Amino acid sequence: GKLEQTDLNAVIKEYVNLAFHGMRASKEPINVDIDLQLDKDVGEIPLVAEDFSRVILNLCNNAFDAMREKTLQGFQTPGGLEGYQPKLTIRTHKSGNTVTIEIQDNGPGIPDDIKDKILQPFFTTKKGTAGTGLGLSITNDIIKAHGGNLEVYSDESTGTRFNIHISYTG
Ligand code: ADP
Ligand code: MG
Repeated sequence: GKLEQTDLNAVIKEYVNLAFHGMRASKEPINVDIDLQLDKDVGEIPLVAEDFSRVILNLCNNAFDAMREKTLQGFQTPGGLEGYQPKLTIRTHKSGNTVTIEIQDNGPGIPDDIKDKILQPFFTTKKGTAGTGLGLSITNDIIKAHGGNLEVYSDESTGTRFNIHISYTG
């Protein structure tokens, strides 16, 4: 694929929706509130849309997996996590020629001792065939190919937020 002027917010809406419907059709669907806060000023930016769509899919699927895990933990904890409502928030923001995309879940967070391993190919904490461990590695490669970078902020109390920054010329 090649870089083409692409409506980033439209790509986000389409692929969040796809990830959501895939999750709802899976063996273990969960209830998730989805909050899209998309800045209209973002407009069109240079993207390889077919690649960048995988970034959105991978990050949403990881968020759904994490929040499913927290939901299932809740069932095993008497009285615990009562009222836990999974929530996925996606924000876009434009500042000058830099666009920021934030993908935030309120799942269990990423333990400190694995935080620096999650971008490695084949690193997964998912059992059986559930995870290939390739999602974040590919995601990071695609973002880098767009001249961007990926940051992760995570803790047990609030969950996990991935920030993508992409700067472009023109
Ligand atoms: P996979 O999803 O196949 O396990 P990924 O590369 O997508 O592989 O993710 C690697 C690991 O990073 C996951 O197995 C999980 O431990 C951790 N991870 C990724 N995203 C999240 C998230 N949103 N919340 C908690 N842990 C996460
Ligand atoms: Mg994954």
